[in-house]
Amino acid sequence: MTLGSSVTQLKQQPVIPITPPFDELVGQPLVSSYLSRVVSSEQTISQAYLFTGPLGAGKTEAALLFARTLLCPNGGLDNCDECRRVMRKTHPDLHILEPEGAKSYLLEQIQDLIHEAYLTPMRANRKVYILTQADSLSVSAANAFLKLLEEPPPSVVFILIGRMRASLPETVVSRCQFVNFVALPEVIAVKLLVQELGASDEQARIALAVAGGSLSQARGFLRSEERRALRREVLGVLSSLDRRDAFDLLECAQSLVRLARAPLDSMRLRQAEQLEASKDQLSKGALNAMEQRQKRELSFAERGNINEVFNVFRSWYRDLLLINLGRKADCVNQDVLDSIQLWAADIKADSCVRLLRGLDEAEQRLQYNVSVQSIIESLLLAAARELAQIRQLV
Ligand SMILES: [Zn+2]
Repeated sequence: MTLGSSVTQLKQQPVIPITPPFDELVGQPLVSSYLSRVVSSEQTISQAYLFTGPLGAGKTEAALLFARTLLCPNGGLDNCDECRRVMRKTHPDLHILEPEGAKSYLLEQIQDLIHEAYLTPMRANRKVYILTQADSLSVSAANAFLKLLEEPPPSVVFILIGRMRASLPETVVSRCQFVNFVALPEVIAVKLLVQELGASDEQARIALAVAGGSLSQARGFLRSEERRALRREVLGVLSSLDRRDAFDLLECAQSLVRLARAPLDSMRLRQAEQLEASKDQLSKGALNAMEQRQKRELSFAERGNINEVFNVFRSWYRDLLLINLGRKADCVNQDVLDSIQLWAADIKADSCVRLLRGLDEAEQRLQYNVSVQSIIESLLLAAARELAQIRQLV
């Protein structure tokens, strides 16, 4: 922790021992100790918190543990039904928001939130809102949210999660208790996934690479057969580029996009059930709002899967670079190292850097709503071109 009133207090007082459930948070002793102290007295619980730090630091997990202590009648100590509902993200008084616009939160999302925040809690005696990627609050959404913080609804705690404090308007930051997380070393993250999910070291490193370093997404990847199949498909296409013509590659891009959308089928089913179950209880307007929200959730999840495709490309190019630098043991994709080495035999470091740069640019285009399929097509064509040029030169 670095700035903010909470930190001043922390420095003035002796560090409080870490109490459950915050002992479950790995590699963040200062944060665990701070949150233990916050929940030890009702008076110290504030209206809003801002958790910042790098991807994979455990911010989402900390937010869930905090929500658990706030929503469980026994302070989250007992792992009761309420605790489990929070950790499964199914507690009706826990609301987790993600940006639903192409680049940021939509104003209507925050307007929905404002409307809901004033309603009474359903099971607990308060409600918790977690806003992930809070640094992508647009100016209008941030202004609307600020009004809410200025007239806070009773019994509501907001937890904002972001990478950097500086990317949020100071007017919002100044109303939050600021909690900064340090980067979790990869070796600890790997160990955690191995312990929790019984993954091997190699699988855990792959999951973290595909998840772009996010521990919670790496867990999801390891649990999802469909997402692991998507990775295998991307690697299969990359390793066979030299045997495919341009027409083939366009088909590959199409099939990758189809696969990236496949894991969403179960989500669609769950949403349809949720809508059906709410039909008799909600007004037509509320049902429409629910339907709109579901559509936005779907498009957010789809973006997540597409990001994983990009991350697989990135891990392949990085491995090529590592082999070029004589660091084969550091490669992530140890399960397909033979194929990568076939590429690496010809390719030079400057080609890898060029491919990585092209990938970054493609990701930028994704943010501007360019069709996913055309972006993946151009990525595959660029990679095939690079390989063909090198092979001709050799
Ligand atoms: Zn409990």
